[in-house]
Amino acid sequence: MATSTEPRTFRQRIIDLPVGRKLFNGFAALTCVLVLVIGCLFLTVARLGAANDQIVRVAAARSEAADHLRFAASELRAAQQAYVLAWPSTHQSFDEAAGQFESSLQTLRQGARNAVSQALIQKIATGYQTFLQTDQLIWEALQAGKPVLARNLTLGAESLAFGFMADDAAHFAAIAESNRASAVTVFHDTSDEARILGVVLGLVALIVMVMSSWIITKLIRDPLHRVQQAAERAADGDLEAEADVDGDDETGRLARAFNSMLSKLRLREQALVAEHRRQETSSKVQRALEMADDEPTALEVVGLTLADVLPGRSSELLLADNSKSNLEQAVVAGDNPDGPGCPVASPFSCVAVRSGSAVTFASSTALDACPHLRNRGVAPCSAVCVPVTFMGRAMGVIHAVGTEHQTPTPAEIEAVSMLSTQAGARIGMLRTMIRTSEQASTDSLTGLINRRTFQTRIRSMRRSNTPFALVMADIDHFKRVNDTYGHETGDRAIKTFCEIAKSTLRQNDLMARWGGEEFAFAFSGLDPTDTNAVIDRMRLELAARLSTSDLPGFTASYGVVAADQCASLEDAIRLADDALYAAKAQGRNCSVIADSETSTGTLMPTSTVRVTEKPREHSVGVLASLARDDDPVDR
Ligand code: GH3
Ligand code: MG
Ligand code: MG
Repeated sequence: MATSTEPRTFRQRIIDLPVGRKLFNGFAALTCVLVLVIGCLFLTVARLGAANDQIVRVAAARSEAADHLRFAASELRAAQQAYVLAWPSTHQSFDEAAGQFESSLQTLRQGARNAVSQALIQKIATGYQTFLQTDQLIWEALQAGKPVLARNLTLGAESLAFGFMADDAAHFAAIAESNRASAVTVFHDTSDEARILGVVLGLVALIVMVMSSWIITKLIRDPLHRVQQAAERAADGDLEAEADVDGDDETGRLARAFNSMLSKLRLREQALVAEHRRQETSSKVQRALEMADDEPTALEVVGLTLADVLPGRSSELLLADNSKSNLEQAVVAGDNPDGPGCPVASPFSCVAVRSGSAVTFASSTALDACPHLRNRGVAPCSAVCVPVTFMGRAMGVIHAVGTEHQTPTPAEIEAVSMLSTQAGARIGMLRTMIRTSEQASTDSLTGLINRRTFQTRIRSMRRSNTPFALVMADIDHFKRVNDTYGHETGDRAIKTFCEIAKSTLRQNDLMARWGGEEFAFAFSGLDPTDTNAVIDRMRLELAARLSTSDLPGFTASYGVVAADQCASLEDAIRLADDALYAAKAQGRNCSVIADSETSTGTLMPTSTVRVTEKPREHSVGVLASLARDDDPVDR
């Protein structure tokens, strides 16, 4: 991976953070905000508590002022009784108590907020005025020397006024105290509840925030992590990797798209592997078939390939013979040594050959099964048949059977089709080559090998030190046969001579058309004398055949040499040729044995054999005329 040395921007650093870290940071920031909000809430609660405290303190001050008022009233009454009883005395204590009373009353009046308090204070003030007026009367009575009146006033009206005033002050104090107590209670209750509520709410919010952060992070990060792991495995070449993610969110859809992509890649890979295997098998078969230089070797390759591409099935290759009308089992593969044994007799009775492509049958018992499959008398089976062609012409069919309803897979059918194409091409070409080579080495009129092939073969006989007698033969006066009876009769005469001659050959003997009406023989293991016996038999049989045929009578002359005793093949041929010339010179219809000891050039005939049988009637004329003509030997 390429690494950049450029400093990353803050935005880039944020982008590069892992998703989990991004989520964690985001939720951490939110948590901080929440903590801040909770802090503010606590501050507000604290401020409310302070306000409540203030209210409580005011209530306490009023309660205290009410108590002072009550106490000042008592002081006032005590000072009045004291100056009355201790008369003559001063009014000073009373005035001081009055000052305190008024001060307390003033304090209460200022703090009175509701109508009841104000009315009560007003009532206390009115009672106080009454008490002061009565005190004035008492003081004046004392100064006037009327202490009894003063005492009566003290015990009478003044006592009554004081009673009302004291009761009101006590009542007010009780109310103030009650208000204070309830304010304190409310304050404590409210503060406790607010604190508990704040703590609980804060904790719940924190827990919810942390849990949400954890869950959301897990919900997003874990699936992404699984997709990432699967992608890394796939990048390492493991196409079986799969992102195990559920859900229909973006990550789930990403995982499904990724899995779908991998499954398509797997299919593509399987197709490529199958194609590669197919091509590999195809080129292997191609190479093997190219190396097979004869049909049995090519068929062996076909058998091995069939066993390979159709494992567990019994298969066979049915090939047409040279007549192209009969199909014969050429190859068998599989467990059954007899092969599937399709009884189809000719290529054009085969459904696959007629259709020109592979045909499969799921069951041999099905209505649409091939009749050759249905009527085979074996257990129900499936089958595949692939035609084998060469240059568009049917050559045969590959046929395989297997378990019923288990037809070969498309890949197997493709492999068999490939094999059928290549086998058809190779076997067809081998057959064509053999035909061409046969045509090149064979004389078309007689079916005999030509001079060149003959020479090659006798050269090989000499190389392997096989003793053999070389014979050169020439039909006598053949020109006249042609001239008298026509070329077509001449051809038939040549063919008849060849048939007779061939019938006398043994397995290792050779006969070739040397040219025109001349022939060459190689009699393996025979010396010239034994060869003469064979030539005699040949001449007798020719004469016998001609006697019963519509052909004119004709004979042949022969030159014989022991080829293995000649210095070279060329010498042997020349000697045999010279011997033939000698046979012609001696009157034809005979054989002359050349002396191979003097192979340097001089012909030394060692024997001359002449046929003694008479030709048949109509040939006599020809032979007689041939004999009468004293033609020079044209060789
Ligand atoms: P000799 O006994 O001296 O061999 O006389 P000949 O007439 O057989 O010899 P010659 O060489 O004069 O004639 C050979 C003839 O054979 C000439 C040629 O037309 C004929 N001939 C060669 N090949 C064929 C063939 O394939 N078919 C036919 N019908 N005639 C052929
Ligand atoms: Mg000739
Ligand atoms: Mg001739």
